[in-house]
Amino acid sequence: MEKKKAITGLLIIILIIAGISFLGFRALMQGTSSNSSKDYTPPTPTYVLNTYRKKFHYPTCASVAQMNPENRQNFYGTREEAIAQGYSPCGNCQP
Ligand SMILES: [Zn+2]
Repeated sequence: MEKKKAITGLLIIILIIAGISFLGFRALMQGTSSNSSKDYTPPTPTYVLNTYRKKFHYPTCASVAQMNPENRQNFYGTREEAIAQGYSPCGNCQP
């Protein structure tokens, strides 16, 4: 009788360990899937504003790469909206 009790106890322990490893495995899988969502890139802005020079550029413009990050601001509106906000088109990329 004592032996049967011991086996039942052992079985319960095995089930608990199996459950924990399964949950751990699931958490690991979820961790991996959230890692792949890290690769998500935000939508490309229509234009990039230079808030200091009051100019707007195409995101591909060479001036954007040289821009001080403090003055750099992504703009998702239209060309007209940028002009209405007091920005003028860049002379290089001519947006
Ligand atoms: Zn430009």
